Amino acid sequence: MADIIQLLPDSVANQIAAGEVVQRPSSVVKELIENAVDANASSIVINIKDAGKTLIQVIDDGVGMSDTDARIAFERHATSKIKTANDLFAIRTMGFRGEALASIAAVAQVELKTRKSENELGTEIIIEDSKVKSQEAVSCAKGTNFTVKNLFYNVPARRRFLKSNTTEFNHIVSDFQRVALTNPEIKFKLYHNDSEIYILPKSNIRQRIVAIFGKRINQNLIKVESNTSIIKVTGFIGKPEYARKKTGEQYFFINERFMRSAYLNKAVLDAYKQILPPETVPSYFLYLEADPATIDVNIHPTKTEIKFEDQQAIWQILHAAVKQALGRNNIAPSIDFDQDCFEIPVLSKSSSGISMPQIEINPMFNPFESRMMDVAKSNQSSRMSLENDYLANWESLYSGFENETKSENTFSSLSDDSVQQTFTDTNLSDKYFQFKNKYILTPVKSGLMVIDQKRAHERILFEKYLGSLVSNVIESQKSLYPKTIELDAKDHASILEISNELKTLGLDIADFGGNSIVVNGMPVDAVNQEPEQILDKFLNEFLYSEVDAKTQVQERIAKALAKASAISGGQNLVSEEMREMVDLLFACQNPNYTPFGKLIVSIIKTDELEKRFN
Ligand code: ADP
Ligand code: MG
Repeated sequence: MADIIQLLPDSVANQIAAGEVVQRPSSVVKELIENAVDANASSIVINIKDAGKTLIQVIDDGVGMSDTDARIAFERHATSKIKTANDLFAIRTMGFRGEALASIAAVAQVELKTRKSENELGTEIIIEDSKVKSQEAVSCAKGTNFTVKNLFYNVPARRRFLKSNTTEFNHIVSDFQRVALTNPEIKFKLYHNDSEIYILPKSNIRQRIVAIFGKRINQNLIKVESNTSIIKVTGFIGKPEYARKKTGEQYFFINERFMRSAYLNKAVLDAYKQILPPETVPSYFLYLEADPATIDVNIHPTKTEIKFEDQQAIWQILHAAVKQALGRNNIAPSIDFDQDCFEIPVLSKSSSGISMPQIEINPMFNPFESRMMDVAKSNQSSRMSLENDYLANWESLYSGFENETKSENTFSSLSDDSVQQTFTDTNLSDKYFQFKNKYILTPVKSGLMVIDQKRAHERILFEKYLGSLVSNVIESQKSLYPKTIELDAKDHASILEISNELKTLGLDIADFGGNSIVVNGMPVDAVNQEPEQILDKFLNEFLYSEVDAKTQVQERIAKALAKASAISGGQNLVSEEMREMVDLLFACQNPNYTPFGKLIVSIIKTDELEKRFN
């Protein structure tokens, strides 16, 4: 019987191996930048075209390679970074598997120009399909210049699998940021389709964080420092008030390498327990240093998952370091190291000064329940949703009440003539009270109606914005003195993609070069808000909250902008404003819930109230 086992040709073996190392353009960028860092570069320039699908170029001024090294570098397991298995336990360089260049050369067209400073001439190599097409002497700058073209040109299935340019470029930016954050002493420049994305001068860690994430982060950073025999922790954490809904500014580095650790993330979040606004995550940039022999970085091919010898001790140290930093910043009481556990008081705005008399409201009370039962009884086949039911019965909330209230008709000057007639005709709601600058209270037939003003405004704006987007009717806008705002590169790219829609809604923005945009106009409803605030809130919601894949982009924009522009709880409203708000709310298709599904309206029933006085 004939033998059937064959050895795969190198090019095929390399292509298979490449699947592990080169998942997308950002993997190439990451490997090439890391090589440049390992080569002691002091300046690294990265040129990207079409999110890396057509071109990735990385130029460094590092040690360069000799003619022979340049050739061998593309062989699998070719590395100058480890010589014996023992070296594996003392790794401090970025790469060490000697796989990256071989993998890249298997799935793209690669050109390499490199020169060592002591040589007069450098060498140029052209590789395709893992084969050297040519190598010749050239005069070139000291250091190394890699050009990677047409990634996956020979693996169409992989190429098809790539995501949109925005997504792929976002991956590149993420990987770039991670390397840049660990090497502040290196100058970086990143260009995409010839436009400048980042120019990062040589600096320290703090300046580097600010250069990447924008000036606003500066006053929100708290220094962390802790040195123990097991691990050293340095870096910065964000102030609790800077915490955002978006995840993305959470970084751990171990021995100057980015790492992920859900376990240690928990240690940080736990230290912030009870001092964060709900549903937000703090920013952190934490640099851990440990003896390489106590960590295993080799458990994942892309080397971002790390295993520590002494996970639990590190958890404790990190947790304490963060708490201590927060304490020093007077946000949480400082930690006493002899104590195993300590309590942080819940901070609340109302905890100082004169306290307001409290009205107790039963949060479990559901005003819809009994009416639902009635509807169900009277109409067995009714399959109306709770919301529709409430709407259908909305008018009955007021019927018969008109006679009880004697007030003049003051609703003649309503700004929106689509306001539900039934409501305006009842004439009862001259009586609006604001409670805690947060709730609008107004009597209705069955009791006391309580409306969350921010949520109501969100609903009103959402329906208005969605209407404008669908019908493409341009919303009026408040023009302002043009204001430039610096954004994170990813946010910058994403917001420009939807600038037409935003303009329809009155938020007029344009590219201002670098990662900046200029804001020329604001939605009329976004009263009293700074453009930065609106954008921050908008991006936070639009880009970083979980979305159902079925949700249309228009709806997502309308939701996020409604949330960003809505008045805050805490805003004082005069009677006229409250009335307008309530009217507009009940002119909405769904006045009961915010577009995010939160309850807007609740009624404290008269008999509930009366029971309290029994
Ligand atoms: P690794 O980085 O794991 O050693 P690579 O395949 O990424 O493997 O690189 C192979 C070798 O090529 C490196 O060990 C290094 O000697 C050399 N090399 C790669 N990039 C550069 C560079 N930018 N400057 C100098 N030498 C480089
Ligand atoms: Mg490498």
